[in-house]
Amino acid sequence: MIQLPLSKLSNIGTTIFSQMTQLANENEAINLSQGFPDFMPDPELLDHVDYFIKKGFNQYAPMGGMITLKEEIARKIENSHQAIYHPDSEITVTAGGTQAIFTAVATFVKKDDEVIIFEPAYDCYEPTVELFGGIIKRFEMKAPDYTIDWTAVKNLVTDKTKMIILNNPNNPSGKILTEHDIQELISIVKGTSILILSDEVYENIVFDGKQHLSIAKYPELKERSLLVASFGKLFHVTGWKIGYCAAPKVLTDEFRKIHQFNVFSVNTPMQLALAAYMKNEDHYNHLSQFFQEKRDFLRKGLAGTSFELLDCEGTYFQALKYDKISDKNDFDFASELTITHKVASVPFSSFYKNKLNEHVIRLCFAKKQETLEKAIENLSKI
Ligand code: GLN
Repeated sequence: MIQLPLSKLSNIGTTIFSQMTQLANENEAINLSQGFPDFMPDPELLDHVDYFIKKGFNQYAPMGGMITLKEEIARKIENSHQAIYHPDSEITVTAGGTQAIFTAVATFVKKDDEVIIFEPAYDCYEPTVELFGGIIKRFEMKAPDYTIDWTAVKNLVTDKTKMIILNNPNNPSGKILTEHDIQELISIVKGTSILILSDEVYENIVFDGKQHLSIAKYPELKERSLLVASFGKLFHVTGWKIGYCAAPKVLTDEFRKIHQFNVFSVNTPMQLALAAYMKNEDHYNHLSQFFQEKRDFLRKGLAGTSFELLDCEGTYFQALKYDKISDKNDFDFASELTITHKVASVPFSSFYKNKLNEHVIRLCFAKKQETLEKAIENLSKI
């Protein structure tokens, strides 16, 4: 038998989201694990897709994206963050947030470059950095507050630090960065050539009147940042896999050198449909309110249970601490919850390299009222 080579990520399994979704399906459990809405997007958006497909817009889009969409993205960023990005030279439409992140890392991270991440961290950051020979330096944010000790972060910076990856609002903790956090970050990168990759895919889902502080708002950060966002989260279409990367021209020029060989360009009729739909700002201005009602419904429903509800300032994920219920590790607890109580979640330890187990699980509340009701009913019996 010939010995065939293993992949460069041979030590890594299938993502926790796929694993838990599979477990949910096998056990006919309510799937609050993987983050995706179980309701339809606005029919108006779907009509736009239908229109552009039938009108004959079915060939390659330009490499950086359709200009109409890039213009709408620039307008949205300017309105929300008072920041100017040139649509043609500073915005690139990508096949979802994950591809934007992959391409950003592939573009800039070389062998032995150091990249700082904050844990709990979304699952793709570390393997992507590893794939290109980078070295991860991590700061662990911990339950229940997930605050950042910026002195500790500063100590991670060396002359090899190439990039800092931010995720704001944070998946899975639901925390958002404060003005203090941003000012600390500014002082850390000042005078260095450190890049910032800012994953802000949940930027439009922030609760209780709080404000999302994008890196785009701060010129000292914007000039060195790649800002990543996602239409999947914005318009309830995670399966369309369309997002974008906004960055100063010097960074975008480099980003596109890789992007052109990674995906080349993204689905044309969907881009045109998104552009047409985005002309009406009401289509995305009320997202926080929409999800806040779902968050509050879930929190109210679980308030009388033995689960401890951690703060949820943004994203569509609620973190639950279950140490009054079980001393099992969070992976075993989440599996048991799926199999026995028919509610699938994601264990927080999967967002930490060292599998830090603080007895916390994540529930996705981007779900229909009836789905949330059923989940609350099951969880209330524990
Ligand atoms: N972003 C989604 C989540 O956090 C998962 C996407 C995926 O399955 N890779 O649940």
